[in-house]
Amino acid sequence: MIGDRQLTPEEAAYADEASRKIRALVPPDLPERMDRNEILYPKDYLRAMAKHHYLGVQVPATFNGGGLTILHDALVNEMAGHWGSATLACSRSFTSHGGFILWKYGSDYLHDHYLRPTLAGEKFVCQALTEPGTGSDAAAIETTAERRGQTYVLNGQKRFIDGAQSVDFIIVAAKVRRGGREAMAMFCVDTDRPGYVIKEVQSDWMGFRGLGSAWIAFENLEIPATNLIGEESQGWKILMEELALERVVATRAQLGQAHRALSIAANYAEHRRTFGKRLRDHQHIAFKVAELATRLDAAYLLNTRAARLLQEGRGKEARLEVAMAKLAGVEAAWEVVDESLQILGGIGYTKKYPVERILRDVRASRLTAGSTEMMRLIIQQVAFDRLRDPDFRGELVGRELEGSPVQGPRRETTR
Ligand SMILES: Cc1cc2nc3c(=O)[nH]c(=O)nc-3n(C[C@H](O)[C@H](O)[C@H](O)COP(=O)(O)OP(=O)(O)OC[C@H]3O[C@@H](n4cnc5c(N)ncnc54)[C@H](O)[C@@H]3O)c2cc1C
Repeated sequence: MIGDRQLTPEEAAYADEASRKIRALVPPDLPERMDRNEILYPKDYLRAMAKHHYLGVQVPATFNGGGLTILHDALVNEMAGHWGSATLACSRSFTSHGGFILWKYGSDYLHDHYLRPTLAGEKFVCQALTEPGTGSDAAAIETTAERRGQTYVLNGQKRFIDGAQSVDFIIVAAKVRRGGREAMAMFCVDTDRPGYVIKEVQSDWMGFRGLGSAWIAFENLEIPATNLIGEESQGWKILMEELALERVVATRAQLGQAHRALSIAANYAEHRRTFGKRLRDHQHIAFKVAELATRLDAAYLLNTRAARLLQEGRGKEARLEVAMAKLAGVEAAWEVVDESLQILGGIGYTKKYPVERILRDVRASRLTAGSTEMMRLIIQQVAFDRLRDPDFRGELVGRELEGSPVQGPRRETTR
């Protein structure tokens, strides 16, 4: 957004309109009230977003979605982050990636009972994957969903579940038999069922507050078999699609937040004077703003590329690009916000400006939806494959005196 984000004129106009509308839709004190845990899920805000078709932007309009693309959805999240907070953006992105898989894999029943009301702002959703025993290693979850006639019986625990105290239903990953990823299935679980237990309210964490997060348990919780999303065998595939979307769309909110922090810092530097001149006239500060603006725009570009690849249905082959967008996005956001706070000096560490809250919010994104380390794991796997050169003389490694490691004509590389 500082430079040209490689948007078409239509996409740029949509982003500008979303920016104006969302700025007006977010009550000025809402992010701070959520930060103080005075609100446990921003339902009025989500209802207002629904009226403007800002929930499930990429889902067809016949399902109450926006009928646009994943990039449009990411742009809305960018503005929700910019004018609101990470948690406001998160609450809408649940409807977005949850809505997307419900639309793509859900039955007519799930469409009518869950998808349409959710995108209309009448029902509220969150997702539960992480367990006390496993987070990054998603295939190792232990929650079970045992089929008994026309029902599934759920048992297990999930923790760090945003929205768990407030939503109407949760998209839950559980195992339908013993095994790894092949045993995983996805379900819609109503939170008013007997056997749904809040074990511990998780509201006092560092940032990312106001979502009613909790450690929960399913204790012989029965759901109708019709609440299975897709087929039993499709659970892992559905989860991966959902996570890919989250990695792109939710990260865009972090970029929106970082952009806001940098904007505050740049404006501050134009007015704050030290040693007889404006902060921006000290070359160190001016160059820092130049570096941060460049870092932010690079992350925007990677995000736009990943959103377009997902839109083309190339999610599986675009694992690298999605992981790069997530890694570069959240790491850039963290650095940009931290350095913006540095430019503000001591006042940045107070609540006079929202930068300290943004810093605490942004920090969570280096852990959520696949941590920074998990993104590096994915990237290195694909990168080593794509960087492999069959002409490289591996047998000469350590014996380079015997010949040049690369011999023969240089290969034309495709990338
Ligand atoms: C604010 C917040 C909100 C959240 N919201 C939700 C939610 O709504 N729903 C939900 O299901 N979950 C949620 N989570 C959970 C989040 O997705 C997990 O915390 C995350 O997946 C990491 O899992 P873990 O905490 O169990 O860490 P672990 O998997 O135990 O990992 C611990 C550390 O080791 C690193 N690590 C693990 N394996 C490797 C490896 N092979 N190589 C190198 N490093 C490794 C990790 O990156 C991490 O830094 C939330 C978390 C937070 C902080």
